[in-house]
Amino acid sequence: MTAYSFTHTPATPMPAEQREALLADPGFGDIFTEHMVSITWTREAGWHDAEVLPYGPIPMDPASSVLHYGQEIFEGLKAYRRADGSIVTFRPEANARRLNQSATRLALPEIPEDLFVQAVHELVTADRDWVPSGFDQSLYLRPFMIADESFLGVRAAQRARFMVIASPAGPYFSGGVKPVSIWLSQTLARAGHGGTGAAKCGGNYAASLAPQNEAAENGCQQVLFTDTATEDTIDELGGMNMFLVRADGTLLTPKLNGNILDGITRRSLIQLAKDRGHSVEERAVTVSEWRAGVADGSIIEAFACGTAAVITPIGQLKSTDFTIDFGDKAPGELTMSLREELTGIQTGAREDRHNWLDVIVAAEA
Ligand SMILES: *Cc1c(COP(=O)(O)O)cnc(C)c1O
Repeated sequence: MTAYSFTHTPATPMPAEQREALLADPGFGDIFTEHMVSITWTREAGWHDAEVLPYGPIPMDPASSVLHYGQEIFEGLKAYRRADGSIVTFRPEANARRLNQSATRLALPEIPEDLFVQAVHELVTADRDWVPSGFDQSLYLRPFMIADESFLGVRAAQRARFMVIASPAGPYFSGGVKPVSIWLSQTLARAGHGGTGAAKCGGNYAASLAPQNEAAENGCQQVLFTDTATEDTIDELGGMNMFLVRADGTLLTPKLNGNILDGITRRSLIQLAKDRGHSVEERAVTVSEWRAGVADGSIIEAFACGTAAVITPIGQLKSTDFTIDFGDKAPGELTMSLREELTGIQTGAREDRHNWLDVIVAAEA
């Protein structure tokens, strides 16, 4: 790995007891570590001024383009503390590559992949004491990029900032993994053909919030989006990819059609399922097919997946016209066994045979 040079400005350390108290029950996205990474880009000078500095507010001109035209992209990955004391992340180079694909779509600059990975290393190393060790706990890392030039004209970024912040996270499901109910959004979409659906950008999330409210009003925790052209072809949830499981062990998942995000969890689960001898069909999957399959017993499980929740079993799909319900058969067996295998690889309980882990802090001697 090319070593880029980062300047380090250490934060005043928090007393250990105070930190331990925060780490006991960190929740998700509420607390942040003591440092952050910032790297500046300008069209003339490229990437420069890489820093690890105390976590805190960033100065921003009210005319910053991100505030007006939404030029923002992000990533999400986790650092895990393992039983042997080592700290690892999962496939960070895949996040780097995806950030650059999002950057291209939003006319932001690409960042060298090894600089992205080094930025993650610098932050996790500085805040290593903040990586929790409890069951299902991790340090959630949020790299992001914004266009921050002061200019109200609309154009490709001339100045940008890449940052990484970190947030200790507890189990996504307090009280065990429970099947969720999801709401079929029939009037509102998060993405359309040729839009930004395949980019991990804040704007897609903004578009998903009103449908998310509609889901909540109908007693559902998540939203399922379908292709706007057919209103039947499944895209994904607001922030998770989707799988169906057939009784013969085949997994079905929507193919990357330009509307959906190329999830690293999705990709990893496809690999793990194939390793076990399951066939995986990446193709157009429809709500009608799901409904008919549950009715005739040929579709027996459904789950959503993403870094934050790993795998979320789906118990029910609700819409204004019908409900698809797995009843007490959810969570499904394959759903839970794939979940156990993937988290086992991440936490060291299982062998990392695909070399997915990136060791940041070595095991204690
Ligand atoms: C981040 C994200 C996912 C999941 O991707 P992972 O790499 O598995 O975390 C799925 N869908 C959307 C819209 C996302 O933003």
